[in-house]
Amino acid sequence: MTKPPPLKNDCFALPPGVHWTPVDEALALLQSRMSGVTETEDLLVAEALGRVLAEPAVAERSHPPHANCAVDGYALKGAQYRDGVHRVPLCEGRSAAGQPFDRTVPDSHALRVLTGANLPEGTDTVILQEDVHLEDGHIAFNGPLKIGANARKAGEDVQAGETLFPAGHRLTPADLGLLSATGVGRVKLHKPLRVAVISTGDELAEAWAVASDDQIYDANRPMLLAAIKKLGHEPIDMGRMPDQRDVLKDGLTRAAQEADVILTSGGASAGDEDHMSALLNETGTMALWRIAIKPGRPLALGLWENTPVFGLPGNPVAAMVCTLILARPVMRLMAGQSWDIPEGLMLPAAFTKSKKAGRREYLRARIRHGQVEVFPSEGSGRISGLSWADGLVELSDQAQDIAPGTPVRYISYADFGL
Ligand code: AMP
Ligand code: MG
Repeated sequence: MTKPPPLKNDCFALPPGVHWTPVDEALALLQSRMSGVTETEDLLVAEALGRVLAEPAVAERSHPPHANCAVDGYALKGAQYRDGVHRVPLCEGRSAAGQPFDRTVPDSHALRVLTGANLPEGTDTVILQEDVHLEDGHIAFNGPLKIGANARKAGEDVQAGETLFPAGHRLTPADLGLLSATGVGRVKLHKPLRVAVISTGDELAEAWAVASDDQIYDANRPMLLAAIKKLGHEPIDMGRMPDQRDVLKDGLTRAAQEADVILTSGGASAGDEDHMSALLNETGTMALWRIAIKPGRPLALGLWENTPVFGLPGNPVAAMVCTLILARPVMRLMAGQSWDIPEGLMLPAAFTKSKKAGRREYLRARIRHGQVEVFPSEGSGRISGLSWADGLVELSDQAQDIAPGTPVRYISYADFGL
């Protein structure tokens, strides 16, 4: 499949003169330079869970389409019955869900109705069956009635022609219900963003294999593939590659053919074995972004055959944080979604910490007793902390001294979409 080049060659260029780019500035640059890349397709609503709308969804008809009964009971004209006891003759017949009454209920009469039935012509109110005494051909009850009680007006929930969701909205289970209720049977969707994942490093082994002492198991690949899936994209496992330029080169080329964006981990700095940045550098499209973020070493960004590559750090904690903070919003844009940075919650810290001003920090965190706890170690290789945590705490660029009780921003994994 041929892809139009989605991006300009210099899309990752940083403004000159900046040494450590603040996170917000890095994000603003990414937001301004990236855009949707996926094709669209028409699908049945039932197949659209987790997918992104390519155009606004508009209600085909009102909900409910006709005034209807909210309870089992008797329909009548409410205004006629003031204080006191009333005996009202019943009309022959009934209105049930899917089986409407086909005549008009005469004045001063009532009709047996069931939940979900169309409200019969000539009535506007339903009295609950528990509130009446049924006699031969009559009902007796105490007034007054509240006009309109237990009856739903046509279109009181949604009007035909109303926009239900804007383009770019990702559909939830509730949304599939609303679309169906308003007669939308098919939706135009973005095809899922295809995200290739490559792990790099001579030291890596598969978790299911026997590994020697000088090897470590590849943790980033299963973690990142799973994160991509949770974020609603299509993960493509490109495997693990050694620190060899020709192998990596072939891997990137295959990934560029199969995917819309490539995430690699490892080999992204400027060391002897940092082949990922060396390769991207050769394309003339690379920018080594030094972002004022911890954890996270330089992030190598570039295009490989027109496909954006995120060269993430190898350390699992840094790889995860950079994915959530930097790659996630970009992948959303590419997938046709809106730009979105989760706000999280301001909660009191349960910890003490001093940090340098001018750098944003993310700590592995969780909420206990309404306060934010952080993982005792900040070591970027301590992958166990990612599982210990339920989210991240974001310490702002300016923050310096955090003491118990200081409000800090907590962003749960769920807020990120994990
Ligand atoms: P690098 O960015 O290649 O210098 O790697 C930084 C650190 O992360 C090294 O300790 C690597 O062994 C480790 N690392 C790199 N890739 C992975 C991976 N896929 N899974 C677990 N650890 C990794
Ligand atoms: Mg490496």
